[in-house]
Amino acid sequence: MLLMIPGPIEISPAVAEAAAAPPDSHVSPAFIEHYGSALERMRQVWKAGPEAQPVIVAGGGTLAMEIAVCNLTEPGDRALVVNTGYFGDRMAEMLARRGVHVDQVRAEPGSSPSTDDVAKALDAGDYKVMAVTHVDTSTGVRTDAEALAKLARNRDVLSIFDGVCATAGERFDMEAWGADVYLTASQKAIGLPPGLALLVMSARAVAARRALGTKPPMTLDLAQWKPILEAYEARRPSYFSTPATTLVKALDVGLGELADIDAVFARHAQVADAMRAAWQVLGLTLLPADGLAANTLSAIRYPEGVGPELTKAIAARGVAVAGGLHPALKTQYFRVGHMGYSTRRPDHLLSTVRAVAEALVACGHSCDVEAAVKAVASRI
Ligand code: PMP
Repeated sequence: MLLMIPGPIEISPAVAEAAAAPPDSHVSPAFIEHYGSALERMRQVWKAGPEAQPVIVAGGGTLAMEIAVCNLTEPGDRALVVNTGYFGDRMAEMLARRGVHVDQVRAEPGSSPSTDDVAKALDAGDYKVMAVTHVDTSTGVRTDAEALAKLARNRDVLSIFDGVCATAGERFDMEAWGADVYLTASQKAIGLPPGLALLVMSARAVAARRALGTKPPMTLDLAQWKPILEAYEARRPSYFSTPATTLVKALDVGLGELADIDAVFARHAQVADAMRAAWQVLGLTLLPADGLAANTLSAIRYPEGVGPELTKAIAARGVAVAGGLHPALKTQYFRVGHMGYSTRRPDHLLSTVRAVAEALVACGHSCDVEAAVKAVASRI
C-alpha cells in the first residue's frame, strides 16, 4: 500500500535502512556523532541562528506542542491562538490546562484569520505568547507564517508555530522572521517513521524558560535537556533520559537528504501545483479558500454524489489517503498527502492521481483519468 496520507508518509531507502539497524548505545562515539550532526542539521533546515536551541525528544507532535507550551508559559500568562482548525483547538486546550488565559482569533474551516485581524487582536491584549498552526492538517490551510511571526516580534510577543504538517515542506525562515518556537514531529515532511518530537527554540524562548516561576514537568523541561543537547553537539557523551537511538540516527540521515532546503521547499510547491492541476481536471474543488492551500497536502471536497466510500475505493487501488478530520465537515472531504520522500518519486504521485481518478469513476463521478494523470506528469 502506498502511504499518501498527510503523515506518516513513505520514507527513503536510506532512512529505512538506518531505522532498521540494531539499536546503538546512547554513549557510543558513532551515536554521539549522529546526535550532534542531527542537531546541527536541524538548525539548517529550520533556518535558525547559532543561538537557537534544537531539541530532539522521543514522542510526537503533541509532545512537541507541550514542550513549547510549558517552557514558555506559566499559570496566569495570556496567550493568543490563531485558530485554523483541529490543531488550533488542541493548542488552545493545552494552554488552558497550563493555567494560561487564552483568547482566539478564528476563521471558518478552510479559511484563515487575516493578518490585520491578528494584529488587532494582539494590540487589544497583553499577550506573552501567540500560537499559530503553520499548516492545519485538518483543513489543508496554510497561514502566512512570515507575516504573523513579524507581527509578534514587533510587539515583543513570543511566537510558537506548529509546523507538524509544514516543517521541511513549506518555506520557513526562523531567524529572519523572528519566530520563537518552530515545532514538528518526525513522521511528516522530515521523512522518518513516527517517534520523535522535534523543535527549535530561539534565544528569547530559552530566556523565557529561565524566567519561569512554575517549572515544567521534569521530562518536558528545557532546563533539564539543554545541557544534554549541548554536550551531544560538542560530541561529548551525556545522559538525562535515554534517547531513541535508532530514530536519532535515522534523523541524521533524513535531515542529510534535506540539506538543500530551498530546493526542497521549491519541489513541494511544484508538486502541489501539479497535484492541484490534476484535481481540477477531475472536476474537484479544494476545501481551502483561494491562495490558502498548503503545499504538503490537498484537502479535497467530495464531488456531488460521492462520499466517504471514495477513500475505500482508492485504498482498493493500492493507495492510502485520509478522510476528513475537521469535526464540522468530516464527511464532506478527503485528504491526500504530498510531502517528503514522495515529492521526489514521480511514480508515487502518478499512482496516487490514477488511483483517485479511477476510484472516482468507480463511485459514479464521470471524469477523464488519463487527462488527470497527464496533467500531473507534465508538471513534475
Ligand atoms: N499539529 C499538527 C498540525 C498535526 O498535523 C499533528 C498530527 N497530525 C499534530 C500537531 C500532532 O502530532 P502527533 O500526532 O505526532 O502527536
